[in-house]
Amino acid sequence: MMLLNRPPWHTLSQLSGARGVKADWQGFPEHLLKPTQDLADSYPCLGRCGGYMDVVKHSDGQYVGICPTCDKQVLNKLDLVVYRPDFAAIFAALARAFGLEDASHTTVDSITQCWQIGEYNPAASYRFPVLTLIEGQAERIERVIGQIAAKLQKPFFMLLPSASAVTQSVQDIAYRNGGKVFAYEDLIELEGNALQVRGTAAAILAELSAGWIKHSDDAEGATRYPTPAGATWGDIMLEFTADELVSVSCKGSGHKQYSAEDFNMRDKKTKKPKKAWAFLQAMALVGGNMPISNIEELKKDKQAVSQSLQALFQLDDDPIIYSKDAGAMYKTKFVIRGGDKLTIADARRRRVG
Ligand SMILES: [Zn+2]
Repeated sequence: MMLLNRPPWHTLSQLSGARGVKADWQGFPEHLLKPTQDLADSYPCLGRCGGYMDVVKHSDGQYVGICPTCDKQVLNKLDLVVYRPDFAAIFAALARAFGLEDASHTTVDSITQCWQIGEYNPAASYRFPVLTLIEGQAERIERVIGQIAAKLQKPFFMLLPSASAVTQSVQDIAYRNGGKVFAYEDLIELEGNALQVRGTAAAILAELSAGWIKHSDDAEGATRYPTPAGATWGDIMLEFTADELVSVSCKGSGHKQYSAEDFNMRDKKTKKPKKAWAFLQAMALVGGNMPISNIEELKKDKQAVSQSLQALFQLDDDPIIYSKDAGAMYKTKFVIRGGDKLTIADARRRRVG
């Protein structure tokens, strides 16, 4: 019974180049095969030798298979059509297992039978490439893992069709190269004609990537806002509730109270907020649009603020842009307010009044 239920994916890497005639693809779901324009020049022998026949086309248009040990066989042209797996459908299912939104696969330069099917984005700007390699041979798998690691320079997922290809040695090499190898069996299965994501896939991935994220945070013990995947600066709001207290939220939820310390904006020696904190307060006073008279005076503080925010929210792009649309200005991509809660606001009002 176990054998009957065995998923068909191992067949993918058994055929050279994942190409073969219908007879080669026995046991592989027919609806996941696509015909190519090519006719095979060899065909499984119908005799008892278990080998392949050379296919010869006679002048009358008939196709004949010739086996060195068995009899000749007349072959039907349709049976000679070469089929490829429907990679678009299979990779789309794998992409669903990773919760990838746009399932488009691209070939990887100079590595044959290898595709990137997307990037796994578990939180904030953390993106881990997801690749698939159609290969069953351990030696080549191990070599490709090394090539991919050198190319990407960050943790990645490598998906292999066959569970038997995920040997201890392959896993060790992946681990040493900052990657993780999965077999399709762990991720997708066939239910009738439909490709389904296995219930366990999401949990495995979440746990793994949480480990990678923790590892990549070099500043041990630094505050990190739980920025959800796909969030942008525009989703984030900073609101001063006091001189040294900011309420942070994303898309109106996930409220957290942070101090200058959490923003890495408190001087460890003097215990006083750094100049970057004053910059942030000034931004709150002007609602995120700060006119600049002398950029050289502000440049360093602005840079410090951007870096602190990028680390706190784990987002890659610069949260503060320089604009010249309506005079020289620094503009925040996030919402910042609460300037009226600051004592410098009182001082300003007194000055005006
Ligand atoms: Zn034969």
